[in-house]
Amino acid sequence: MTEVTPLYDTYMRAPLRFERGEGVWLTTEDGNRYLDFAAGVAVNSLGHAHPHLVAALKEQAEKIWHLSNLYEIPGQEKLATRLTAHTFADKVFFTNSGAEALECAIKTARRYQFSKGRPERFHIITFEGAFHGRTLATIAAGGQAKYLEGFGPKAPGFVQVPFGDLTAVKDAITDETAAILIEPIQGEGGIRLASKEFMQALRQLCDEFGLLLICDEVQCGIGRTGKLFAHEWSGITPDIMAVAKGIGGGFPLGACLATAEAASGMVAGTHGSTYGGNPLAMAVGNAVLDVVLADGFLEHVRDVALIFRQGLASLADRYPDVIEEIRGDGLMLGLKAVVPAADLLKAIRAEKMLAVPAGENVIRLLPPLVTSADEAREGLARLERAAEHLTRIEQRASA
Ligand code: PLP
Repeated sequence: MTEVTPLYDTYMRAPLRFERGEGVWLTTEDGNRYLDFAAGVAVNSLGHAHPHLVAALKEQAEKIWHLSNLYEIPGQEKLATRLTAHTFADKVFFTNSGAEALECAIKTARRYQFSKGRPERFHIITFEGAFHGRTLATIAAGGQAKYLEGFGPKAPGFVQVPFGDLTAVKDAITDETAAILIEPIQGEGGIRLASKEFMQALRQLCDEFGLLLICDEVQCGIGRTGKLFAHEWSGITPDIMAVAKGIGGGFPLGACLATAEAASGMVAGTHGSTYGGNPLAMAVGNAVLDVVLADGFLEHVRDVALIFRQGLASLADRYPDVIEEIRGDGLMLGLKAVVPAADLLKAIRAEKMLAVPAGENVIRLLPPLVTSADEAREGLARLERAAEHLTRIEQRASA
């Protein structure tokens, strides 16, 4: 008989039990230290136990944990003011997760068209390989069969086209289209970058057809690419943006940002969340921004990213039988593997380093943004040993 455990069987967990973390390091219950270049899948933006975040959380914990959104919450006002000051947005709605930020983004876009007298415009164009979360709407938006199977009819109103295919986007626009939704860098999809030109063309199409451009920056936002948000590299701004992961640095926090015009349909009573904007989350979110917005921080991300990327490129050159290509931007990088990605991940883990699998046989490297140049070099050394190990196995197999 198979053992029945009290947890849902939805996750395929590695047999690792971490007890503590500090900076880029995680320590298991039995005292092994791992270099954490997974960062909770781009969540621990400031690493583990960052003193400024710990202090902010402790201080807030001694004041108020929770308040309903029936009352004014100063931490929300402060965080929203800072987010709007540093982005295209005028308005913010706080959530607890990425999927909820996307739900709010989707609702905002549909409600905008509705409020302009175009209720038939509720379709959203999304891209193959996308990942937007696991709620019923966001699995429909992501469009991946493996996440949709068995959950009843796919939520209507999502049309999917190949990533980067502008003609397909144009062909998909109808009188029922409300918005285009894109991750500027697909994370789960395999670290696939939307080109600057593609992002600009989407902006143009949205303007031409009265559509809203929604960026999903849940994974690529909050400094991960060396700018506060990844879309900034293309010089365009979206109308709506979903943010989560890095903004909470490990505390559950998400946000939907929008221009005043895009958010104009979201009047009182149209949306809500019990916990969204909770004072504890706001204290941590504000503390994360203290660090990320400080002078020189994004420059640090760009500098370390350059060192790391150059090292990865050299690895790909020296181990062409293991690594085919380096993808991504900033500290959101992917190794497209020649060997099965699962084997590469296993070899990396054997070197006591954490990374994350993704689509297209890619291994994602998402180090905390506070990673130092030396820690990046340590990561490269461990990756090199993993690649060397796999090369030796390949050589033995072909001998
Ligand atoms: N959007 C993107 C781009 C993501 O990477 C994720 C999570 O991996 C989500 C949305 C969903 O976020 P959450 O798991 O917090 O609901």
